[in-house]
Amino acid sequence: MSKQISHFINGRRSAGRSGHAHPVYNPATGQQSGSVDLAGPDEVREAVSAARAAFPKWADTTPLRRARILNRFLRIVEDRVTDLAAVITSEHGKVLTDAVGEIQRGLEVVEFAIGAPYLLKGEVTENVGTNVDAMSVRQPLGVVVGVTPFNFPAMVPMWMFPVALACGNCFVLKPSERDPSASLLLAEWLTEAGLPDGVFNVVQGDKQAVDALLNDPDVDAVSFVGSTPIARHIYETATRSGKRCQALGGAKNHMIVMPDADLDQATDALMGAGYGSAGERCMAVSVVVPVGEGTADALVARLTPRVRALKVAPGTDPEAEMGPLVTRQHLERVHGYIDAGIAEGATLVVDGRGFKAQGYEDGYFLGGTLFDHVTPTMKIYQEEIFGPVLSVVRARSYQEAADLTNAHPLGNGTAIFTRDGDTAREFAHRIKVGMVGVNVPIPIPMAFHSFGGWKASLFGDHYMHGPEGVRFYTHLKTITSRWPTGIRQKPEFAMPTMR
Ligand code: NAD
Repeated sequence: MSKQISHFINGRRSAGRSGHAHPVYNPATGQQSGSVDLAGPDEVREAVSAARAAFPKWADTTPLRRARILNRFLRIVEDRVTDLAAVITSEHGKVLTDAVGEIQRGLEVVEFAIGAPYLLKGEVTENVGTNVDAMSVRQPLGVVVGVTPFNFPAMVPMWMFPVALACGNCFVLKPSERDPSASLLLAEWLTEAGLPDGVFNVVQGDKQAVDALLNDPDVDAVSFVGSTPIARHIYETATRSGKRCQALGGAKNHMIVMPDADLDQATDALMGAGYGSAGERCMAVSVVVPVGEGTADALVARLTPRVRALKVAPGTDPEAEMGPLVTRQHLERVHGYIDAGIAEGATLVVDGRGFKAQGYEDGYFLGGTLFDHVTPTMKIYQEEIFGPVLSVVRARSYQEAADLTNAHPLGNGTAIFTRDGDTAREFAHRIKVGMVGVNVPIPIPMAFHSFGGWKASLFGDHYMHGPEGVRFYTHLKTITSRWPTGIRQKPEFAMPTMR
């Protein structure tokens, strides 16, 4: 039975009225499992109005009370991780343990946000002038919007809304139309945890819904995570109308392997980082840069049998290491990149095309794919593929590998594998990338640090969650007061200075 996936506005599910819907598929079977309502301007207005109406009361709710609601939400999600993971796997395709992992990483942001009473503590300077005190406080922005990608339907929304809500904002989430169901469970569980109606809303939709959100004068800020061209569009449109915006874009993460590295460890790291979640992670390693021909030959020799032996199966199979890609269109797009790599002269060492999962012949499966002798001028090097395709770009020296990484227009994550502390420190210090791993292939910052890339991987001034998240979701206000009032002041016509 095909299910209808709707919006969540003002504390309840709300059927779409626009007359537009989008099919939702199970990527493992290729069968349509549901249909998601696509919001038009009216539904977007309704959600933003509900958030605006709920804002004054929520902003005045004490941080401790807000934190207690998030604490109850945390426990509800922990109790139902398996249900949520099953929903994610059924629409995204990722392996169940991977879905559980993304929920766990999202919940860590909830745990961080529960510290709101501490995080929102301001600063006071007593006697900044004679009888004058200064106080800096952080206040919520108002109505904030989150527009999120398909690849983490629970975690990426949880990078945003726990911190936004803890800071006293109301939230409108626009999830990916490819895997929209997780958002509704999160919304219902927030309500069950005691969140007042209107504080958290979900509008399902595509570009039309996003444009309506960007143009709504009642929206104060926009958090976006997705591909670079859309991130740029969102940032430019939102900031043009004076909204605060953080827009995280795509990635092409390089992992440098030095000749002194433990190659078995580096190979294990590459298998997980390159092929986990079918490469559909913004922190996936898609380019490996071995330094020296000997390192490259030894690494490719280790990788080749491992990539061939990858267990590709539906995400519900407990043996699966990698599931299908998210949609047929995306599968075709990744096929197109493999064709382009061959045409441009890269060596196709392992070809994942033609892989069929037995009993799931209509699923969007692609086997692990490995290219060697990729060069920086090739399309498969320059563009984000977002699939299980790893490119080996051989470098002659550390400097050549670092220059290559620095020259790429995307700068989300990177890693180096080495036993040499000097090289590791030099790399961490000079590389022009936002998140750096030393013998750690996927250096995703924990919730109490902040997440974000450099260059065309992030538009805006603030990263996500951690201290940067609190800064993004609050205005800073500094209050200067003079007490007692009994002391007469002469009028001051010069620039006031504190005495
Ligand atoms: P996408 O850019 O296609 O879509 C992201 C969101 O934008 C979705 O909600 C979608 O409905 C909306 N959208 C799509 N086209 C739009 C348009 N023209 N106008 C307005 N809104 C539009 O991204 P995706 O395919 O869902 O996700 C994969 C991408 O996300 C990859 O590029 C990946 O690197 C990136 N990503 C980045 C990070 C990060 O932290 N930097 C994290 C996860 C994913």
